[in-house]
Amino acid sequence: MRATVMFGAGDVRIENVPDSHIIESTDAVVVVSRACICGSDLWPYRGLEEFPENGRRMGHEAIGVVEAVGPDVRTMKRGDLVIMPFAFSDGSCVFCNQGLQTSCIHGGFFGIHGNDGAQAEALRVPHADGTLFVLRVDKDDALMPSLLTLSDVMGTGHHAAVTAKVRPGSKVAVVGDGAVGLCGAIAAQRLGAEQIIILGRHSDRIALAKDFGAADVVSERGDEAVERVRELTGGFGVHSVLECVGTEAAMRTAISIARPGGAVGRVGVPQNETMPASQPAFYNNITVSGGPAPVRAYIDKLLPDILEGRIAPGRVFDRTVSLEQVPEGYQAMDDRKSIKVMVEP
Ligand SMILES: [Zn+2]
Repeated sequence: MRATVMFGAGDVRIENVPDSHIIESTDAVVVVSRACICGSDLWPYRGLEEFPENGRRMGHEAIGVVEAVGPDVRTMKRGDLVIMPFAFSDGSCVFCNQGLQTSCIHGGFFGIHGNDGAQAEALRVPHADGTLFVLRVDKDDALMPSLLTLSDVMGTGHHAAVTAKVRPGSKVAVVGDGAVGLCGAIAAQRLGAEQIIILGRHSDRIALAKDFGAADVVSERGDEAVERVRELTGGFGVHSVLECVGTEAAMRTAISIARPGGAVGRVGVPQNETMPASQPAFYNNITVSGGPAPVRAYIDKLLPDILEGRIAPGRVFDRTVSLEQVPEGYQAMDDRKSIKVMVEP
């Protein structure tokens, strides 16, 4: 079968690899209907991560059709359409039971540590019962792009909003105008935010953020951005900040625009060991929370809003490629010519 393998910075290839097959009795094999390229795939693409010698399988977001299940899989069968969250989880351990599937004691992440990737014709999914969510819609349903976002970006944006404690009446700022930040705006509005400020500077993304409920835009950076957010919020800053980038500068801005007693929910993968702005965080009693989103836990909550048309996070996809065109998709996202690329193998 064909699969995406990254061998080094900027070196993404579509390779022939052995067919995915059942290894453990709790596995499923899923034929990928749709996958996508994630902003976090760009970190290794830019050479910021180490590579195994034989390359790294890429992709961790998918909707697909179950092709085979191991003998201990109970909740799905061949032919079922499923959403695949970016992390696999057993669905039964202490952390899964508290809705933190990304800390599952038997869990892991697709596309690293030898696990199959989703930018491929098919992949092996460990702990199928705990991981996959069976959809009762047609495979060609027009809602498919939005449903695909439940595998990562919409669930991750929601996690940023939840951990930033967004509630009805909150003033909210979203740091980052990538697909996760845009979904964060959707999530903040969905949770009842009174004011949503997007910090970003790409006109296509800002236009989408406005459609998603962000009435205010801050395109400045650093101290000027902080000043501007304060101006927009009566001088105090926001109750909730969704940090959707992961750089030191983004985190510093996020803490600096939270009002005293506010909260920062971070979902951008941190690129530094230490957290900046420790002193303002301390003196202003800022809660800093967030981490890898347990998107599996959020599918149930977010799915009705997609099926009933209240939210349309699939609008973050502005380009669709075939599997063989995936390298061009990486290039387009790296060049900021595309917000998020969908892959139809
Ligand atoms: Zn678990």
